[in-house]
Amino acid sequence: MSATPVPFFDRTRGNAPLESELTATFQRILCSGRYILGPEVEAFERECAESLNVRHAIGVSSGSDAVLAALMALRVGPGDEIICPAYTFFATAGAIARLGATPVFVDIDPSTYLIDPAAVAAHLSPRTRAIVPVHLFGRCADIDALQALTSLPIIEDAAQAFGAVHRGRSAGSMGALGCFSFFPTKNLGGFGDGGLVTTDDAALAARVHTLRAHGAPAKHHHTDVGGNFRLDALQAALLRVLLPHVGAAIAARRAHAARYNQLFGEAHLTAVDPPPASLEATYNQYVIRVRGDGARDRLRTFLADNGVGTEVYYPSALHRQPCFAALGLGEGSLPAAESAARETLALPIFPDLTAAEIGIVVAQITAFFADLE
Ligand SMILES: *Cc1c(COP(=O)(O)O)cnc(C)c1O
Repeated sequence: MSATPVPFFDRTRGNAPLESELTATFQRILCSGRYILGPEVEAFERECAESLNVRHAIGVSSGSDAVLAALMALRVGPGDEIICPAYTFFATAGAIARLGATPVFVDIDPSTYLIDPAAVAAHLSPRTRAIVPVHLFGRCADIDALQALTSLPIIEDAAQAFGAVHRGRSAGSMGALGCFSFFPTKNLGGFGDGGLVTTDDAALAARVHTLRAHGAPAKHHHTDVGGNFRLDALQAALLRVLLPHVGAAIAARRAHAARYNQLFGEAHLTAVDPPPASLEATYNQYVIRVRGDGARDRLRTFLADNGVGTEVYYPSALHRQPCFAALGLGEGSLPAAESAARETLALPIFPDLTAAEIGIVVAQITAFFADLE
């Protein structure tokens, strides 16, 4: 056993310096008597819009509901095809399927794990209504390339990419709509569920607003069938405490990624591919590829036995999930997504991780491969 265990994720470290401010905020909301939407949510929306360089930001109940509401705002429904990557969190495709539309899974670039624009081009059809690229692990998909292919609306799934930029443009500001999550592990992670939809289009913003409250622009007058996608005042107020610190948290993630890349460069592990260096990615996750049949899972077990926490994002490509079996995409149909699901491993990268801990993680990985030789 390693003397110093390294957790995969530890949120309590980051909360500690803000504890009195968070507690005072909780007290303020408790006494306000206003617990859903209201001035706290409106203030949070304004602050997010400014931080993300967008005209409109609408607080919603989760990142999953952000994707759902964005698709609903575009009136996506049965018969529509929506192109999305096969390698992402389930919610991206789940929202599409819940509306009766068909997720058209396409393959990824094996070096960045992001949607491959050439694969998108090959899957455009007269039924395609929108494209949902995912800024996976906090690295922006190539929106310019997608916009060069088609004028169809693009919904950016930016759940993992709050604060990321792509050639100077902010994640969530490039497509017709952007979707964010405040799940605790995300770059701006709250204290429960929460999400945000962004857009520069006033009409789309108004639709998301209405859809968020059961499609009712005025009380008890329903122009659309929406949902309850409302954000809590408490969540918004606590997130407002964190928002001014998100830049520093992202800077810490970038520094950790650079340190990992440097140590992996020095370790010369032929079986490990670190992610490509980037100054624009936010490294919501730091994901390595571990080559060799079953090597990823053996390394993961070894690290767990030695006190190092890791995660697998994601152990199955979405076209291989049982609920999407009817699409008929067999094993081998999207090979880059499938090999990523077999070979990728996410290492600890939360902002308050220490340089010493990063050293331990790389030393343990090096020890695993040394034992094999
Ligand atoms: C986290 C995540 C979501 C969903 O966000 P929730 O707030 O957990 O509902 C959607 N898409 C991606 C890519 C995510 O990582």
